[in-house]
Amino acid sequence: MISRALGFPSQTGPVGRVRTQEMNMARYQTAGFLTHVIHADFDKTYKVGETAPFSGIYRCTVCGCEAVSLGGNTLPPESHHKHAAGQGTTQWQIIVGAVHTTA
Ligand SMILES: [Zn+2]
Repeated sequence: MISRALGFPSQTGPVGRVRTQEMNMARYQTAGFLTHVIHADFDKTYKVGETAPFSGIYRCTVCGCEAVSLGGNTLPPESHHKHAAGQGTTQWQIIVGAVHTTA
């Protein structure tokens, strides 16, 4: 199931000035809610069915499709989305990690 892209009228409708590549990228409104970090955890890739090590947004390195996974849960299966013939199998990479702190 493909849900409507946040911030755009629809994923199948006109995209205006938005480039196709940007349509496939996570988006946000307030930069102050995100912190840019460089860490090896963002470079790792995971196979379908592996356990998500962190809660956050994961991106398929093959096609750019995104999914939200909770840390400790199984990453989405190959049936989550389809690849064209010859593209290969899904590899997940975390692109935005959720921070959960307790008081
Ligand atoms: Zn994919």
